[in-house]
Amino acid sequence: MKVTLTSKVRILPDEETTDLLISTMHAYTAACNYVSVHVFSTGVTSKQRIHDELYRDIRSRFALRSQMAESVIRTVVAKYKALSSSRGSWKIIRFSKPQYDLVWNRDYSLKGDVFSVNTLSGRRRMHFAKPASSLDGKFGTAKLVHKHGKFYLHIPVTHEVPEVSDDRLTDVVGIDRGIRFLAAAYDSSGKTTFFSGAQVKAKRAHYKALRKELQRVGTPSSRRRLKAIGQRENRWMNDVDHCISKALAESYPKGTLFVLEDLTGIRKATERVKASDRYVSVSWPYYDFEQKLIYKAAMRGQKVINVDPAYTSQTCPKCGRRDNVSRDKRLHLFRCTGCGYTSNDDRIAAMNLYSMGNEYLVQSGKSMSLAGGVRSMTPDVTPADPKLSGPVTNAGGISRPLQGSHKPLLQGVSLSRGI
Ligand SMILES: [Zn+2]
Repeated sequence: MKVTLTSKVRILPDEETTDLLISTMHAYTAACNYVSVHVFSTGVTSKQRIHDELYRDIRSRFALRSQMAESVIRTVVAKYKALSSSRGSWKIIRFSKPQYDLVWNRDYSLKGDVFSVNTLSGRRRMHFAKPASSLDGKFGTAKLVHKHGKFYLHIPVTHEVPEVSDDRLTDVVGIDRGIRFLAAAYDSSGKTTFFSGAQVKAKRAHYKALRKELQRVGTPSSRRRLKAIGQRENRWMNDVDHCISKALAESYPKGTLFVLEDLTGIRKATERVKASDRYVSVSWPYYDFEQKLIYKAAMRGQKVINVDPAYTSQTCPKCGRRDNVSRDKRLHLFRCTGCGYTSNDDRIAAMNLYSMGNEYLVQSGKSMSLAGGVRSMTPDVTPADPKLSGPVTNAGGISRPLQGSHKPLLQGVSLSRGI
């Protein structure tokens, strides 16, 4: 099974190499803009045709080496193809920040603590700082970026992780992801673990207000700041995802089956929330969180599955009755109209996901001899903790996941374990 995570590696060039890297990146970026104008005005997105028409030109104008010229064409074409597949209107793509895309083993390599890279003056070697995240895996096309005087290499690393066979699974944890709680995890001992979203919400609200103000101002510098804020927010959210997935994987034993809602169709998530909350859901970094959890779980002999999320928050986990009146969203209370089962509504979905995990194990032929017995449909629980069901206003919003550091960070995520 393959999981791709982005590693961020700090490059440590000496003074002379620093200048060379900067001029290489500038030449590369200028060439990208040159090709971009051509693609925009001609509408041609065939790599071969662009190569035939521009290759010599790119090399002589920007002093790029052969492989770099090829890479420029590939980068620009990929951007325009992404633009047309997202059905965005045909507009010129500008490369404003110095960048450089590097193909593994051809344009760059990492060996020991040495980073080797193609530059305008040929191959250069320099040291790099080892990142906290693992660099074992297959390296993809990396991006060299220069920020605040520092160089970073963003490398997509594909890890081949061991797939845990179903007959080794001995425990089930249902995980519901949301806004008030970033995650609510229900396990086979009948416990629910909540990862509070309160601090994330507050921080997001702060960013949102800031964005609004900058949009209102609308100057070039405010637009730049707007972009920078978005990136800072992404990095921060990436850390939050890292922490939650790590805490989950480490909180449960080997042989745990994690059950997540399948939110590949983000549409479903949008349908579940009010219009005013929609920004949160569509941009929620579910995918990133999932990749991180799959990776961390696999490394610990655990497994992650996705299930259809339909009705997980409307079904009584005790008697199976389904309707849309049992849940009082305002009070965050679920009270089954059939059997009267009552609980904090944030854990209902997690309980149902937990049950679905048990069904999955039954269907995969596992004799259900979980420690403590199966409690799938009749968990031993008490009614909702009143502390957990206060009035809640709309969340601020969570944006796209992106690369970021993997330093341990738990601020913004508080872990509480309770019934
Ligand atoms: Zn019921």
